[in-house]
Amino acid sequence: MLEDKNQEKTDLEKLGEFGLIDHLTQHFPITRKSTLKGIGDDAAVLDFKGSKTIVSTDLLVEGVHFDLSYMPLKHLGYKAVMVNLSDIYAMNAEATQITVSIAVSNRFPLEALEELYEGITLAAKLYKVDLVGGDTTSSMTGLIISITALGKAKAADIVYRSGAKENDLLVVTGDLGGAYMGLQVLEREKEVFKVNPNSQPDLEPYSYIVERQLKPEARKDIFELLKKLDVHPTAMIDISDGLSSEILHLCKHSKVGCHLYEDKIPLDPTVISACEEFKMDSTLVALSGGEDYELLFTLDQKEFPKIKGNPNMTVVGHMTAENEGAHLISRNNSKIPLTAQGWNSFAKT
Ligand SMILES: [Mg+2]
Repeated sequence: MLEDKNQEKTDLEKLGEFGLIDHLTQHFPITRKSTLKGIGDDAAVLDFKGSKTIVSTDLLVEGVHFDLSYMPLKHLGYKAVMVNLSDIYAMNAEATQITVSIAVSNRFPLEALEELYEGITLAAKLYKVDLVGGDTTSSMTGLIISITALGKAKAADIVYRSGAKENDLLVVTGDLGGAYMGLQVLEREKEVFKVNPNSQPDLEPYSYIVERQLKPEARKDIFELLKKLDVHPTAMIDISDGLSSEILHLCKHSKVGCHLYEDKIPLDPTVISACEEFKMDSTLVALSGGEDYELLFTLDQKEFPKIKGNPNMTVVGHMTAENEGAHLISRNNSKIPLTAQGWNSFAKT
């Protein structure tokens, strides 16, 4: 599926480690006042003045977190940054800097890494974060990417997982399940391609969900919107593993229970039609699919008028007393305990 562009290939050995870092990071300008020193010394120097510093790290391993047979390297670079920025926004903080470290085997030529860094550059530019450091080294087999994202926030603005109260509303941004169904489409096309390498997949009808998988966006816009609407979530988390497990994190850290209403879960029509095609339950896909990188937060009911009717946010339930537990209230009004995998009748394979 990845076409060979037949370009000139440059062995990484030719550059050496320092040459490689210089080469890959030459196009990153410093744009933040808080970046006093970026790349080029033993360490970066940052100054957040009166703000708190927010830090988050993620590790992505080829074959575990991504499959290069359908994931273009440019998209991978972009997504790797998004995954990290999403965690900063989930703290209600502004993302400001990243560091990028990669371990790479000699099957990757320089041109492949340039493509990866093209995606990283684009993400940094669009989300206004500075690249301030990182490392490159060799790996025996595949590609490993580790990104650290830094951000800043006033102490009073930071939103933890632990602040939800009984009767708070449970709100989700965007729609769910798209990234997972996009992955199903790509996995299917990969199998078709294995049998018939001349097949031309028509991904057009699936463009929304495939994009949700390959090129997710972190919800910087929601972080900004909350500020603009003067909305203060009581607890927040980003949806990387599926709605169900994120709700359970909020419940556990906040010591509350939850009622999630099945008929309120926001689904894009293309997710519903893909679920029909793959004979999958769309609720289950939203609950356990993951990788949507939407935000899930709780809100005091008094704040509801501020978000009422906003197309970016959907109230999907409310928090209850801890001893009531976390439940899905299904369309036929039955009360089903939520588990990290969706619900207890389902086990992730
Ligand atoms: Mg997270």
